Amino acid sequence: SEFGSASSRKVIKLLGDAGYEAVFVGGSVRDYLLGKDASDIDIATSASPEEVKQVFPNTIDVGIEHGTVMVLMDREPIEVTTYRTESTYTDHRRPDEVKFVKSLKEDLRRRDFTINALALTVSGELIDPFGGRDDLKGRVIRAVGNAQDRFTEDALRMVRAVRFASVLGFEVEAGTRQAISGNAEKIRHVSVERIKVEMDKLMKGKEPNKGFALIAETGLSHHLPVFPQDIRILSESVPFEDALQGWAALMLAGGFTASEVARAYKLSNREKEFLSAVHVAFDRRQLGRYTTDDYYRFPFDVICAAENIWQAFNPSEDGIPQHEIAMKQRELPIRSKDELQVNGKDLMAWTEQRGGPWLGEWMDRIEKAVLHRECPNDTEKIKEWFFNEYKRQE
Ligand code: ATP
Ligand code: MG
Repeated sequence: SEFGSASSRKVIKLLGDAGYEAVFVGGSVRDYLLGKDASDIDIATSASPEEVKQVFPNTIDVGIEHGTVMVLMDREPIEVTTYRTESTYTDHRRPDEVKFVKSLKEDLRRRDFTINALALTVSGELIDPFGGRDDLKGRVIRAVGNAQDRFTEDALRMVRAVRFASVLGFEVEAGTRQAISGNAEKIRHVSVERIKVEMDKLMKGKEPNKGFALIAETGLSHHLPVFPQDIRILSESVPFEDALQGWAALMLAGGFTASEVARAYKLSNREKEFLSAVHVAFDRRQLGRYTTDDYYRFPFDVICAAENIWQAFNPSEDGIPQHEIAMKQRELPIRSKDELQVNGKDLMAWTEQRGGPWLGEWMDRIEKAVLHRECPNDTEKIKEWFFNEYKRQE
């Protein structure tokens, strides 16, 4: 089958008609050769950003300083990046300047790993100057050129190596791996935002245990924030259902709090709240199986994450399968206070009393009574129950 969408092929053909070279590059070519669904498609071209803009009427400058122009082709956004090299890195992260070049090979040379330094023409010819196809076959992650130099240029590539090991299940080639060990401390120069992007992908990978083990074995763990030194525990808890489960495992394995992980990796509030709920649920699970109150209090995905990780830490004990968690939650008489058939206004009407803190207290008691089936969730039944209790109070 043909590679790329009709619009992306059209973009390449039009650039060709205008006298420029244009090819598919990067991760999508790699994934295509692996028989996986192509991710975002990247196009590289010999045309400068200005020249690209002259060829297409509808473009958006998305990263023009890096040579990237977004072309809107039949309403589909297609990213086109001018062949470039990145010269003189002085701080182990971003290049001091981006230089546009005319040669595809130069462009491929600045890419991180041989499996990512592949290009595909629109007629299906593979351009592979660094042996990427062989490394795909050998399932190897190997730096393009001198690994030591490449990691010195941009230290993030070390984390990218271990994330590809997780995502693809590949081995990191010995020399590349040695260069990670030798340069691990340089990861300290890289922003956590960039590291987080790669860690998220590592967590979602099919073999995160491989990624974690590599991080520990190469010593990257000593230089990454909140990374547990003992990853044996983590190696059991995989694969994760999503990246957040991975972060939760990292937190619990290392004995960190949600706030510590959130601060270190600049997690969003939503992510932090999830981690903190998983922490509470996990601590509860340490004491025994979940109670009705737990099933009521924690969302499904929070319990699932806590349970997955708990099982990984306690492999010889009986876990609770997901369908049982789902069933327990389905069987609850209510899932939240909103589902109660009465509210504060009803209580005020029944008692002819004004609002106040007593309302909240009684709503809490009603919620509990309904949850524990002391009283059905029915207006009249709740009213009966309420007056019984209310009178007893007086
Ligand atoms: P994914 O499928 O996860 O997106 P990808 O290989 O496409 O994987 P991206 O981060 O999207 O990864 O980068 C696209 C391409 O850009 C890579 O395949 C690689 O050729 C190049 N690249 C990205 N980051 C770097 C880097 N830090 N150093 C060198 N080349 C890089
Ligand atoms: Mg990509």
